[in-house]
Amino acid sequence: MHQNAAVRVDHGVVSGTFSLDGQTFDVDNNVWVIGDDTECVVIDAPHDVDAIMKVVGDRTVRSIVCTHAHDDHVRVAPALRERTGAPILLHPDDRPLWELTHGPSVAWDTDLADGETIEVGGAALTVRHTPGHAPGAVCLYSPGLGCVFTGDTLFRGGPGATGRSYSDAALIVASIRAKLFTLPGDTVVHTGHGEDTTIDAERRTLG
Ligand SMILES: [Zn+2]
Repeated sequence: MHQNAAVRVDHGVVSGTFSLDGQTFDVDNNVWVIGDDTECVVIDAPHDVDAIMKVVGDRTVRSIVCTHAHDDHVRVAPALRERTGAPILLHPDDRPLWELTHGPSVAWDTDLADGETIEVGGAALTVRHTPGHAPGAVCLYSPGLGCVFTGDTLFRGGPGATGRSYSDAALIVASIRAKLFTLPGDTVVHTGHGEDTTIDAERRTLG
């Protein structure tokens, strides 16, 4: 497809907490905004709507895509929806985690499905279901931008954490091998926390 020359990736870091299994941790989350000068998609909704909107600017938000439903990624998704009018997209396998944060009465809008494509500003993001860190974890791959947004599935230095409820250590490695290590090696990996990496670098690390 033709990619608008003005399409770009913008980024912010938003601080807050992550709670699961009765423990709470301080965390810095990446928020990723993909689009052109008029419209964008927001990947994850961590901690603070005003901080996210600083990255968005005056653009129209087409959707709020959640890489998974841990509370540090979705806590302000309903408030961001309220502010922007944009729908919240989440893989339905993360319903248990979503309900830990928002209860059963607050819903997301649209189920994400493996293989579907989200288009914004001439860019295309393909959904890759990568369960393991969370049952409904997804990554979003943009061939045109040469990057993949991995949430907490793949970080610089290896797979995301699998020590808590609803995680599966063997499954995350299988997901990474099948859905991420099959991407071009120079694909830039934009993560849910911390620094960027590449598919090649993480393939070497995981072996
Ligand atoms: Zn997480």
